[in-house]
Amino acid sequence: MKALKFAKLDSDNRTIVQVGPVQIGGPKIAVMAGPCAVESREQLLLIASTLKSLGADMLRGGAFKPRTSPYSFRGLAEDGLKLLAEARELTGLPVVTEVMDARDVELVAGYADMLQIGSRNMQNFTLLHEVGTYRKPVLLKRGLSATLEEWLLAAEYILAAGNNQVVLCERGIRTFETWTRNTVDISAIPAVKELSHLPVILDPSHGTGRWKMVSPVAKAAVAAGADGLLIEVHPDPEYALSDGPQSLTPENFARLISELGPLAQAVGRTAGAQF
Ligand code: PEP
Ligand code: MN
Repeated sequence: MKALKFAKLDSDNRTIVQVGPVQIGGPKIAVMAGPCAVESREQLLLIASTLKSLGADMLRGGAFKPRTSPYSFRGLAEDGLKLLAEARELTGLPVVTEVMDARDVELVAGYADMLQIGSRNMQNFTLLHEVGTYRKPVLLKRGLSATLEEWLLAAEYILAAGNNQVVLCERGIRTFETWTRNTVDISAIPAVKELSHLPVILDPSHGTGRWKMVSPVAKAAVAAGADGLLIEVHPDPEYALSDGPQSLTPENFARLISELGPLAQAVGRTAGAQF
């Protein structure tokens, strides 16, 4: 892989991605948390301030939602982006949100601190090139059935367009197993670390589809060397408009964060709130 040409590297020749005050790929595990979708002002501001107080590093939330059925809730679009910006004002948490279409990159980049490319768009080469022309960090999710090489080559599209601020996100792949929503490929974390200089994080929410599995799999990822986590948290998962079954309550998120600290320390990292 020849992406090194564009990257700003640390002393170990690894890229550190800077999102506002947050570093991804540095010593601290970057925890991005929030609802699957921005649903309302009340929902977002409540969960954002709770997450801030619990030690999250960044706020996630979808305003443009890729849904299997066109009749499912597909997000609040620009109204959702405005709410994310308001939540950032309130909490200071940088915002990551998905951009689904190359025509929307300018709009989304006007509100977000980091642009998420979803699994279903991992090989949307026009979109990859477009985000590569912006000076905004990009979170590139692994495609539903992408090999490591295909995923890294997708990242190359962004780097080749001039943007070296790319974070890779493992989010589970399609296998014959159906009990879990996807099959989390923990081995992708050390593999990517060997094959690439880019930071890699794990999304155990979409990876498992089951909230009870989110915390153990998140911890496995940190033990395996992940640079961060993307976790869905909802104030009331039972009433979530999308992905309720895989969303943590604030209480369960608080427990996970408190368990991550000692675990991170065991692998030479830090995690959670530092007061
Ligand atoms: C998401 O993070 O909201 C999402 C839709 O994830 P993925 O693209 O991994 O399915
Ligand atoms: Mn989701």
